[in-house]
Amino acid sequence: MAVSTRTRASRLVIATILSLGAVGAGSLAQAQAVDAPVALNAPGAALVPAERLSLRKPAVPAGQPVVEGELIFPVDPGPDCYVLDNFGDGREAGTRLHEGIDIMGSAGRAVYAVAAGTLTKRYTNTGTAGWGWTLYDAATKMTYKYYHLTEDPNGLAENDVVEAGAVIGHVGSSGTSSDTNFHLHFEVRPGNVAVDPLPLLTIDTQVCRVSPPIR
Ligand SMILES: [Zn+2]
Repeated sequence: MAVSTRTRASRLVIATILSLGAVGAGSLAQAQAVDAPVALNAPGAALVPAERLSLRKPAVPAGQPVVEGELIFPVDPGPDCYVLDNFGDGREAGTRLHEGIDIMGSAGRAVYAVAAGTLTKRYTNTGTAGWGWTLYDAATKMTYKYYHLTEDPNGLAENDVVEAGAVIGHVGSSGTSSDTNFHLHFEVRPGNVAVDPLPLLTIDTQVCRVSPPIR
């Protein structure tokens, strides 16, 4: 009886090892099958390693003016990065013009603070912005707005101070964006008046295409 019990126990252990092995192999196969993110909206899955760190520089440190062509690109661009030159685009009659640009594609990619400053407002998916932030650099009186992120704030909260280049979220499809339309809406507002961000940005056109002007 004792032998029989031991044998059953041994078989159980072997069966467990075999099944663990099978699970491990399955997970590995699955992991290898996973390609670049296509339609991410989960914070964990959105953490894709940065591949082009050079695009993160130069950034605008606290107190420094924004120089044309030198503002950090606000997204770690994916292979589907496409910048819409659509500042001032007329929206539906009676509504205000488009006060930023839209950076298409790049679903789930890291979003950067373009300057050192304070996250003065957190958008909580209650309006057209979806999830997002207002970043304010008091030294230059520059305001930056980020809309349509994923829900994950990357550990940050309203009134947190961030350095230039800090990851403040990930590209999502919240607000007036949609599930098939992942993009970052990005605004630059000296003295809180919107200007066209496009001439200010550092854009590697080998990586991100830029649309013809859309007005
Ligand atoms: Zn937009």
